[in-house]
Amino acid sequence: MDVLKTRNRSQLLEGLDILNSRMKLSTDVDNYYRALKAGFEGELAFDQMFSEGVTSGGIVLNDLLLSVNGSTIQIDSLILAPDIIYLFEIKNYRGNYRYDNDHYRKTNGYDILNPKNQLNKTLTLLSQLLKQWKVATPLKGAVVFVHQTFTLYEAQPDEQVVLPSQLISHLKLLNSQHNKVPQQVRSLANRLIEHHRDEVPYQKQLPDFHWDKLKKGLTCGSCKSFDLKLNQRSCVCLNCERATSRKNCLIENINNLILLYPDKKVTTSLVYEWIGERIYKRSISIVLEESFIKEGAGRGRYYR
Ligand SMILES: [Zn+2]
Repeated sequence: MDVLKTRNRSQLLEGLDILNSRMKLSTDVDNYYRALKAGFEGELAFDQMFSEGVTSGGIVLNDLLLSVNGSTIQIDSLILAPDIIYLFEIKNYRGNYRYDNDHYRKTNGYDILNPKNQLNKTLTLLSQLLKQWKVATPLKGAVVFVHQTFTLYEAQPDEQVVLPSQLISHLKLLNSQHNKVPQQVRSLANRLIEHHRDEVPYQKQLPDFHWDKLKKGLTCGSCKSFDLKLNQRSCVCLNCERATSRKNCLIENINNLILLYPDKKVTTSLVYEWIGERIYKRSISIVLEESFIKEGAGRGRYYR
């Protein structure tokens, strides 16, 4: 299938990642951050299984945010096959749950609302939109649980709930005889992408943070560890063993600074402080000149 809209790590998640390494998150924010991270990992796991299991023609749109009649719907994965439209709501819950009175109850007492309710709300709104656009292709959907440890006891078989052990065979059902994607499916995919709206700016969703309270230093672009071994040209993370060039590591850290402070004027001195003075100002200047856009001149010069 053609993935026409890819899934990206959100700037919100990236921002929380940076903050998590440089300050102590409150319990609420930390829980939110972990859930967001686990959700994204689950979506990537689904994408992997999907690409291995489904081989026939169709179009995949990931992470769609649509406005329908004043409501907003968020779609994890939408599959436009020649004869069906399929919507997947991806969940990365772990551990044992028991189905009880429209809730998923965890053994420790913690429980969540049946995710099927959200799915059906999304399906209703999406079908309204398709009807307005005069699209008659049938629409179906399922909540898919991707984490291998997830178990749901006392649940009746339900075609809208796909458990980890059923996922591969469920995805194979999507394989049809059609390999060619009709033009009208392609047009619908493009129309949905045009209809996709931007998310709430990530800056508004990040918790409060203050420059003086953030830990300064050079971090790994991947795991955000401060435990880096810097050589003349290379930078090796002693935590995740990722190796990159010293220049690339510096660029990543400057980008992190810009992500958290999009309005701050980035100067050599500011970066020098941000990275805990681990790289000489002269080298920082060179990287800013080479890889960022210069604004202003003289003492008022800054980069973006
Ligand atoms: Zn690392």
